[in-house]
Amino acid sequence: MLETYREELARFHEALAREEYEHYSGRKDALDLEPIYDRYGHLFTPEAVEALRREREAIPEAFETARRALDLLIAEATERALEMAVRPLTERIARAEAAAEIAWDEEVLTFAQAQQRLATEPSPARRRELHAACLDILRRTNELRAERWREMHRAARRFGHPDYRSVYRTLRALDFEALGRQWAQFLEETEELYQAHLQEALWSELGVRPQEAHRADIPAFLRLERYAEVFPREGLRAIYADVLQGLGIEADRQRNIEMDDEERPRKHPRAFCAPIRIPEEIKLVIAPNGGAPDYQALLHEAGHAQHYAWTSAALLPEFRYAGDRALSEMYAFLLESLLREPRWLEDALRFPASEHFLKLMAGQRLFLLRRYAAKCEYEQLLHATDEPEEVAAAYAERLTRATGFQYPPEEFLSDVDDGFYAADYWRAWIAEVWLRDYVKTKFGHRWWRHPRAGRFLIELWETGERYTAEEIVRQIGASAPTIEPLLDEVKIVLGRRRRRR
Ligand SMILES: [Zn+2]
Repeated sequence: MLETYREELARFHEALAREEYEHYSGRKDALDLEPIYDRYGHLFTPEAVEALRREREAIPEAFETARRALDLLIAEATERALEMAVRPLTERIARAEAAAEIAWDEEVLTFAQAQQRLATEPSPARRRELHAACLDILRRTNELRAERWREMHRAARRFGHPDYRSVYRTLRALDFEALGRQWAQFLEETEELYQAHLQEALWSELGVRPQEAHRADIPAFLRLERYAEVFPREGLRAIYADVLQGLGIEADRQRNIEMDDEERPRKHPRAFCAPIRIPEEIKLVIAPNGGAPDYQALLHEAGHAQHYAWTSAALLPEFRYAGDRALSEMYAFLLESLLREPRWLEDALRFPASEHFLKLMAGQRLFLLRRYAAKCEYEQLLHATDEPEEVAAAYAERLTRATGFQYPPEEFLSDVDDGFYAADYWRAWIAEVWLRDYVKTKFGHRWWRHPRAGRFLIELWETGERYTAEEIVRQIGASAPTIEPLLDEVKIVLGRRRRRR
């Protein structure tokens, strides 16, 4: 029975990832999940999950790998069951967003294009206007989103969990109490440093006063217009090949990875990697919009793509498709970190990065970390209630306080990913600092120029999703990853603590 289950699960993943890829890359208007869940829904019924549980109980304790495999299958089946329960609502939200249009000057923009335009619109007043038009679209779909969460929470209870959080506490071992302490500590310890940096950066880069900083300014803030020419769109493919070559990997020989950097009106502005068949068919999708964020997205998705492309085909499907999501994010963050390395910027882009640039990059990172810490805290509130509307004000208040940008309550549901993905990002950020530190110690400060470092990473990537991010860190000789190195790093670059020799 298990053999068939695994085969079908792999086919389900392929079908779903292909559909999502087609839709979110803007090749296909509708997101048709129904035929996929019609065909494979029997894998995710309460009975199917129960059968997996019985299989799990029958495995003797000594067979650790077999037990882990079943744990992942159970987690996966339960999460998919929850997604399946809200499938009609997911489709309706996707349809409404894909159909939305915003009249802007002489143009008609899609929702995706409007969000991208925020990054390049130089006038703060016009950015606010455009953002307000995006909020109109969100307001129209928020009722669907609220209903989607209510239904998701009900489905969690149908599977015998007291609430949605407990699904992840039990099946993915997320320790929300320990994480909660990290989020609070991080927000508190970086508060002063962040506000001081933000004040300076907002004024020097956007000409915006801190009390006027608005959510609509964030894409422009992240774009770093002043340095846009250092990161030309035409250079993306060459940089991708260059980074891999440094690690001893030849990009054009990797037939299993295809990069999609084409422009399409309905292409999702957020870059993504679609591992359709792991390791045989991986899509790396970016929506270039100019500037440093393109390079950041490219390197990040390249980390995912390499991880999946090197995953051993011999692993069980659950060790390829259903493992810890923080793991792949950790590899993505590792490659992304190159953009903050003065030596890499000099080597790869011939850009002698100034202290000003490096501080801006560090400031952005701190913005993102603080935003996610606040988002994670907020999600704890969201998933403790069945009336999502009640926490809209708390969303705006927390995000505004953490980031220094005025957030509108309307984004309280569109800014939430399923399954506590934000907490997975968080764990990945923490683990990545440990991994990077190890790679630097072992292969030197220019680790990206060492095929030996590449071979080391390939060995990790080959294990697919067999281990969690924390387990990988422990395997490379560290203890369980703690938050301190991340905190230190942020403080050092932003200049409040002297670099330790
Ligand atoms: Zn990622």
